[in-house]
Order: sequence, then C-alpha cells, then structure tokens
Amino acid sequence: MKDGYSIFDTHTHLGYGVHHGRRITADELLRGMDSFGVDRSLVIPFPVVEDHHATHDEIYEAVKAHPDRFTGAACLYPYLPRDEFRDEVKRCVEELGFRAIKLQPQYHALNPLWPTSEFFFETALAYNLPIVVHTGSGIPYSLPSLYIVPARKYPDLQIVLGHCGGGGLLLAEAIVAAMVCPNISLELSSLMPHHIAEVLQHVPSNRLMIGSDLPESLTTELSKILFMQLSPEATRDIFWDTAQALFI
Ligand SMILES: [Zn+2]
Repeated sequence: MKDGYSIFDTHTHLGYGVHHGRRITADELLRGMDSFGVDRSLVIPFPVVEDHHATHDEIYEAVKAHPDRFTGAACLYPYLPRDEFRDEVKRCVEELGFRAIKLQPQYHALNPLWPTSEFFFETALAYNLPIVVHTGSGIPYSLPSLYIVPARKYPDLQIVLGHCGGGGLLLAEAIVAAMVCPNISLELSSLMPHHIAEVLQHVPSNRLMIGSDLPESLTTELSKILFMQLSPEATRDIFWDTAQALFI
C-alpha cells in the first residue's frame, strides 16, 4: 500500500537476460516492492533468455514462495515449433498458474498482420492469457497500431500495450489503438506525466495500469501517478483495479 492505494506493478522481470547480461532475483524485486509499498508484481522473463523452460521454472519458484506478492507471466520465442510453443504455454498455465504472456516484438519480430502470427494470438486466447506486448523500440513490429488487427480479429483477447508506445513519439498511436479497441489496455511506463494526462483525455482509467520494468525505475514510474493528483478513482484504477481485473 502507498498513500492508501493498493499497488500492482504490471511490468517486472526476473531471471537472466542474455541480451544485456543482467540478472534480477526475486529478493531484489521484493526489496524494491517493499521500499515503495508495491503489493503485487507481474513477473515476466526477459526477452532473450538461455532457456525459457528454466526461466519459467525460476519465476514459478518465486510465485510459489510468495503467492501473495507475485503473479507469473510466460515469454517464449513465437517461432518455436508450434507443438513445443503450445505445450510450454499449456504448462505455464495449467502447472505453473501463470496469468499472462509477453510478446517482445523488438526481439521476436512477429508481425501481427501476417497470417502466420495468428497462431500466437490464438494460443493466448485458448489459454485465456492476456498478451502484454512491448511497444516502442523495435519498429515496425512494435508499432502500437499493429495490435488493432489482432484486437479486432479476436475481441475476447485482452492486449496490453507495454510502455504505451514508449514515449511521446508513438503515444498517439497507442491512444488511438485503445480508443478503437475496447480490449486494448495501456501500461504507462516511460511516459511523462503530461503524456499520461493526454492519455486520460481519451482512454478511461479502467484500461490504464502502471509498470516499473526495472527495479531502478520503480520509484519514478510509480511516484509520477501520485504527483499527478488524479481523482482517487482514476488512481485506484491505474494502481490496482485494471491489473487485478486482467491478471488475478
Ligand atoms: Zn520490460
């Protein structure tokens, strides 16, 4: 809790990231959460890992040790052999209890416009997993507007645009995507407070949520919402209620 608000951080990573050579442990995440008052975090593998199976197991161990603090999310290369991909998603849901799947277009190069990508979205839908997709760096695959296509094709699929376009450059695209698709939500990390004010002019707060991404960003990303002094209702949505409806 922080200032009377429950807090759900919808964007954290656990394990080893091959691309940046960094490891984050459950203890490190918990220390950051405790220092700010974060109640629960969605824990996601880094985009490039040595072994997605082992990384999912590592996240599962953290969730099992702290079921009241962590919710697990899957992330795996979408061009794996399809049986292998589907089996691991099934294991993540049915055995590990994960509640989301992350797509990292900047490393996965999955184009939502291609028919070959339908498999990814249909697998998420089959296992009732919201997709959290990184947007921003990694254009063209990470353009927020591309996700209008699967959101329209699969109206029961929930899609969260991570980083809300990644700042001012693609912010308008993320806003439009959420305006035209009721099943698209926005995660506000990397936005400036005036960007968030702009988002709120067009997108209801019950489709907005916060995320820290990395422990060193946690205080900045979460404090900016408090400093904006939004209505208690909007603050509650952004800090907890939107995420709770999707991931718990
Ligand atoms: Zn991230």
